[in-house]
Amino acid sequence: MRVQFWGTRGSIAKPGPGTARYGGNTSCIEVRSARETLVVVDCGTGGHSLGQKLMSGGVKGLRGHILISHTHWDHIQGIPFFAPLFVTGNHWDIYGPKGLDQSLRETLAGQMQYTYFPVTPDQFGATIHYHDLVEGTFNIDDIKITTHYLNHPALTLGYRLEADGATIVYCSDHEPHSRSLASGHGDIAGQDLRHAEFINGADLLIHDAQYTAAEYPSKIGWGHSSAEYAVKLAQRAQVKKLALTHHDPLRDDDAVDRMVAGIRAGLRTAASPLQVFAAVEGEIVEIQPSCSKPAERSVAQFSAAAPIKPALLERSVLLGVADPSMAAVLSEAIGAEGIRFNFFSAIDEARKLISKDRPSLVILEHDEARVDGMANCRAIRQIKDQETPVVMVAAQEDTGAGAATGVSDWLIKPFTSSYARTKIRAWVLRTECRWIRAPVPDDEERRIASLRELKILDTEPEERFDRITRLAAALFHVPMAIISLVDEDRQWFKSCIGLNAKETPRDAAFCAHVVYSREPIVVSDAFQDVRFADNPVVTNEPRIRFYAGYPLNLDDGSCIGTLCLLDTRPRTLEGPDLERLHDLADIALREILGLTTR
Ligand SMILES: [Zn+2]
Ligand SMILES: [Zn+2]
Repeated sequence: MRVQFWGTRGSIAKPGPGTARYGGNTSCIEVRSARETLVVVDCGTGGHSLGQKLMSGGVKGLRGHILISHTHWDHIQGIPFFAPLFVTGNHWDIYGPKGLDQSLRETLAGQMQYTYFPVTPDQFGATIHYHDLVEGTFNIDDIKITTHYLNHPALTLGYRLEADGATIVYCSDHEPHSRSLASGHGDIAGQDLRHAEFINGADLLIHDAQYTAAEYPSKIGWGHSSAEYAVKLAQRAQVKKLALTHHDPLRDDDAVDRMVAGIRAGLRTAASPLQVFAAVEGEIVEIQPSCSKPAERSVAQFSAAAPIKPALLERSVLLGVADPSMAAVLSEAIGAEGIRFNFFSAIDEARKLISKDRPSLVILEHDEARVDGMANCRAIRQIKDQETPVVMVAAQEDTGAGAATGVSDWLIKPFTSSYARTKIRAWVLRTECRWIRAPVPDDEERRIASLRELKILDTEPEERFDRITRLAAALFHVPMAIISLVDEDRQWFKSCIGLNAKETPRDAAFCAHVVYSREPIVVSDAFQDVRFADNPVVTNEPRIRFYAGYPLNLDDGSCIGTLCLLDTRPRTLEGPDLERLHDLADIALREILGLTTR
């Protein structure tokens, strides 16, 4: 992979003689795989020059992807000036974390309202698809992208890009979870360790280093790292090269030089193999494939592009908070997210609430004088599985005691309601949006073409198909049976017994897994299967627990969909029953093919 920096400044563009060497434009980098897949990460003011370069020489039909870390100005201000978006025939995908109340598209359109800018996103000439992301993994052509929430006063994603045997990780803007770590003391632990795991083994880490450890104590809660923290993290994660970025607008070139010289001296003394440099606007870095790949990361693999709203509405947060003003701030923050919440004072109450209303997140207050949050945390851990995150609200962190009692994260007082809201949302999303989206099959283009040639999509229901699903439901004693055809972004139902839907998104479709594998799939209990346990059709209506899908394979090898059985109770299907499902699937396929010869 090849990386070019187009903007390295944080917060605000700062052109001028003092920043001429490292650059004055805000965050933007260009990444290219060996197969020339084009990914732009963040589109601050640096995006303007990149856009000009991309469109120079009259390029036509340019295909590209923009990954937005978050929608603070210094990461999106280049978008209204990004030339490739204005050219008809270009095709761009824009990805970013879903904003607090609105979609990524709406947030980006906000900075293009008429008061601020004369052109609206509707006037972009290129075909643009917007993708709201949560934590997880997806592919952009030959690049595997993994996302991870960062700690910042806006919902912010870090991006891990893997291609050609090399890994680049981009983390801007991020504040250490532990304040002592940011000030240059202590070891990587807790959530900072999780952050290190996300970065693990990167060939190039591009990391927020807006401050120095000495400056940090006056910048607590601003959402940025010290260079010392970035270095410690890179060492822990066995990173090869570290590019410090998001340079503070007040740090001129000479000050950046001094900062880097100090860090390099420290690394020499420690005989560390880590290479550190400050990102320079315009600079190109070639990443060679690493010969030794680190062991599989412990980061869960699941779909990053997820319809998150319905899932969020179903969630609740359990709070053990004594201070009334704190309770008010937190309930306001949770309520604003549309998430339900319950308070408890005695642990027996908590036990009842947990059994009645599975919370996605527990928030506890620890205050020597008022409430023993640590004791509550220990009790909650005995009632509830270890997976549910517990956030401790306290005047100061105690990572040692926290790790021993099972505290997942700290919310250090004082904090603003918006900061709490971001943290809460990130934790709820992290807990709830876990299911694995089926990979797209290799022959997807041909598959879609074959499916569409059949001219069956969006046709009226027909008795000859309904007869098959009715028979299937009766034969296997299941409440739901479907002939599902998996289109580009959806599965569409030619026939559907027992379910009041015509189509559902492909992301959440069990059948998409059958289409990928071209083999029958039987899921006896979705709750027990990591691929489906948190799928919204499992956790919400129609609450699917059992699934058996038989592929509908065409002669050219493409799998266009399935005949599938669904139940709300766990059960099994084997041997002769699977053969019967096969027979019915063959009949369905014959009927489908009959359409073309009629
Ligand atoms: Zn920023
Ligand atoms: Zn920011």
